[in-house]
Amino acid sequence: MIINVQELRERKEPLIVDRTFLPGEISLKDHLYILRSAVRFLGSVTPVAAQDVRIRADLSTQLDLVCGRCLKSFQRPIKKSFDLTYVPNEGMNFAEEIELSYADLNVGLFSKSKIDLNSVIIEQIVLEVPMKPICSPRCRGLCDQCGADLNFGPCACVKEHTDPRWARLAEIRDRLKK
Ligand SMILES: [Zn+2]
Ligand SMILES: [Zn+2]
Repeated sequence: MIINVQELRERKEPLIVDRTFLPGEISLKDHLYILRSAVRFLGSVTPVAAQDVRIRADLSTQLDLVCGRCLKSFQRPIKKSFDLTYVPNEGMNFAEEIELSYADLNVGLFSKSKIDLNSVIIEQIVLEVPMKPICSPRCRGLCDQCGADLNFGPCACVKEHTDPRWARLAEIRDRLKK
């Protein structure tokens, strides 16, 4: 959804956006996260100052992530509110842009008098993707030897992982069993 800033200014009132974006509209594809669920968006787009645009919104969706430990897919709900001011980047030099982005993370840039709301949404969702997603803090991950999922119990390599002193005891135990 493209917001024409010129038209927005002429309206002289906030534009209310109450929409459900389908996953196909929000292209978000990476090996660590995929968006398969729709994004609920309710917010306002308001012209402020001389040329700026303020976007305030609540959004919610479900992220499809891959666990960094066991490689299984899992879903994580996202629900957030944001308040951003977009300023035109025309006539701005590169150094100023960099300074701006570091100075205030609640500021975005737009060019050619247009704001792509889909991109705004993508940015907001990406900010919620954890650096290393894990399905659960208790996830045991995969065995680095055989690749077995240790959440289903110990694998055959466990004997080799154990302390050699215990291996001696296991040997004695095995002999007693015979
Ligand atoms: Zn996991
Ligand atoms: Zn193993």
